[in-house]
Amino acid sequence: MRDELILRRCFQLARLGAGNVSPNPMVGAVLVHEGKIIGEGWHQRWGEAHAEVNCLRAVSPENQALIPYSTLYCNLEPCFHFGKTPPCTDLILDHKIPSVVVSNTDPNPLVAGKGLAKLKSAGVKVSHGILEEDGLWLNRAFFTWISGQRPRVILKWAQTSDGFLGKKNERTAISSPAALRLVHRWRAECDAILVGTNTALLDDPRLDVRHYFGKNPLRIMLDSKGKIPSSHHLLDDSTETWVYGSISSTVQYSKTKFLQTTGKLLITSLLEDLKKANHAILLVEGGADVLNQFMETGYWDEIRVLENELHLAEGLRSPQIPAHAVLKEQFSVGADTVRIFTR
Ligand SMILES: [Zn+2]
Repeated sequence: MRDELILRRCFQLARLGAGNVSPNPMVGAVLVHEGKIIGEGWHQRWGEAHAEVNCLRAVSPENQALIPYSTLYCNLEPCFHFGKTPPCTDLILDHKIPSVVVSNTDPNPLVAGKGLAKLKSAGVKVSHGILEEDGLWLNRAFFTWISGQRPRVILKWAQTSDGFLGKKNERTAISSPAALRLVHRWRAECDAILVGTNTALLDDPRLDVRHYFGKNPLRIMLDSKGKIPSSHHLLDDSTETWVYGSISSTVQYSKTKFLQTTGKLLITSLLEDLKKANHAILLVEGGADVLNQFMETGYWDEIRVLENELHLAEGLRSPQIPAHAVLKEQFSVGADTVRIFTR
């Protein structure tokens, strides 16, 4: 029971890295001596120190002598390979930490159990598999990235209680301020956001993070016919933007890239482009045609639906959740209900 509690603390710490570590996993580490936490840390930014390093750095000078008598908890297996930083297994052995508890083994073939095996063979007591499911859910984007070799695709839409996205050919704001804040948090936690031509044209969205903390993700817009006027927010060149389509204006862009495509977007090439650019989490915000295309081709991992209490009676029908989708989470945000589905 105590192991679970401390690992949950690791998950909390790990989540603090959300939006800043992708495509790396979110990792938290806690060092415990005789039931007392003497160090905590998390992986804060891609390319920077791992959770274990930050955890050990956080141990106060007077507690340093306790490290060789403590247990290190970590939601993910300590790394074994030289990446951007030296392996954490060496760090653990150098500090003579006698016991390590983890939730998940690393799916990365470079690590995959080798980190734990190395610790074991050096005499470290190793436990793993505690809260494994929760750990998989926490780092689902990372697990898709490694095992699926592609970005995780999250489909998101907001609908009325009678199943409409909005009125036809009219911008309809249907989410509460609290739900809007949640959506902006989701944006901050992903690497890229995609919208189709109609949504870009009708809603003129900014696709940035204004109602929450965090970085702006890459914006992606489909515009095969060059319909979007350069006065629209998505062509304001304020942040990195990809446009799948041709350019209709003579404006000079620096942060906006035009990727030629004729006709329908080829999802496989989009995912390949994202992968090459190291973007591991894609949030698809609409509209219905684009969302349906992802569902029909099977390229989706997660669906997030916000439902409010409005009644429209007519308008643009929301997409159908696939029959094999599994409801994973349901919660309220203000007056809206949020449901998260997986496969
Ligand atoms: Zn490491």
